[in-house]
Amino acid sequence: MDDIGTLFALLFIGMLLGVITGAIAQKKGESFMAWWLFGTFLFIVALPLIIIKEPKSNQSPVCSKKCPFCGVTIKFSDLKCNRCGRDQPAESAWERTVASEDDIAKWAKQNEPKDSN
Ligand SMILES: [Zn+2]
Repeated sequence: MDDIGTLFALLFIGMLLGVITGAIAQKKGESFMAWWLFGTFLFIVALPLIIIKEPKSNQSPVCSKKCPFCGVTIKFSDLKCNRCGRDQPAESAWERTVASEDDIAKWAKQNEPKDSN
């Protein structure tokens, strides 16, 4: 009955690997149990899937920001506002725009859209 021992060993390793998949899934706002099961039986498929999966945006407000020009909420990674179409400040500049309204105005003046494009 060595086969059963091997089977249990494989199942145990599978469950451990499943926990890794589940932990990543939980960080991304997905169901831990669903991905744990998925990872236990199909680790090879489940792990790359959960790694490339985008986190649920509604559960991570860090991923969105407000356009300093029109105030609409856009994705943090967006380089242009999808409402007013203006270039977004770089991340470091963006932190400054959050700090003071004067900086927003200053930055907006510096980056007025130019006709020569
Ligand atoms: Zn805008």
